[in-house]
Amino acid sequence: MPYDSRVPSLLPEPEKISIVHADVELPVTFLRSSRARRVSLRVDPARQRIVLIAPLRLSHATAVGFATAQAGWIAARLKRLPARRPFLDGAEVPLFGVAHRIRHRPDARGTVWLDGQEIHVAGRPEYLPRRLRDWLTAELRRRLVPLVHAKAERVQRPVKKIGVRDGRSRWGSCGPDGSLSFSWRLVFAPPEVLDYLVAHEVAHLVHMNHSARFWAQARALCEGPIEPPQAWLKKNGEILLQYGG
Ligand SMILES: [Zn+2]
Repeated sequence: MPYDSRVPSLLPEPEKISIVHADVELPVTFLRSSRARRVSLRVDPARQRIVLIAPLRLSHATAVGFATAQAGWIAARLKRLPARRPFLDGAEVPLFGVAHRIRHRPDARGTVWLDGQEIHVAGRPEYLPRRLRDWLTAELRRRLVPLVHAKAERVQRPVKKIGVRDGRSRWGSCGPDGSLSFSWRLVFAPPEVLDYLVAHEVAHLVHMNHSARFWAQARALCEGPIEPPQAWLKKNGEILLQYGG
């Protein structure tokens, strides 16, 4: 056995189950958790699903029975889940806060290009989402990298690495080794939001906490006041997670 082989997970794969309520089948994802002490239901807005979490030893029937008793709650929550906004021909996506329309160009050469308020994507339709996402990630990098370096220079701290990830729980992070990481979905956010998040993570290069001194540093690094971008994220953050997913 190779030394670094991964320990196989003892947890079974998530299972898709249906709970019937008023003649409607409600989709629920059933998960087992070694940390769960009791059976519970949770809303997972990022993945657009309702999750039933049960301790390892609880019987399947008991867990499903619990969910069935809560069918009304599940139905109400499913209705309130935010919509998905897939990358499709004709769909609208914001590019740094400005609405753009996706145009699929199956016969065109090239990959992705901008034309006014339209983003044209060449190639086969099944590749459109991946192609557009790669292009958007590159667009984000183009703005992000110089912004990070400019702010890091102001605090005279080296930046080891700038990563762009599919973070669904955090917009940005700063490691103790000086590597910063950001969500590719910030490409949808207005420039002042990106500026604030960069200021926030660069301020962590100086203060690895959320102390008063950290906030003073973040404010100093931000182009404008920090409250409007913070409020924007609070209000619209979930929408950013809907695009392309
Ligand atoms: Zn922070």
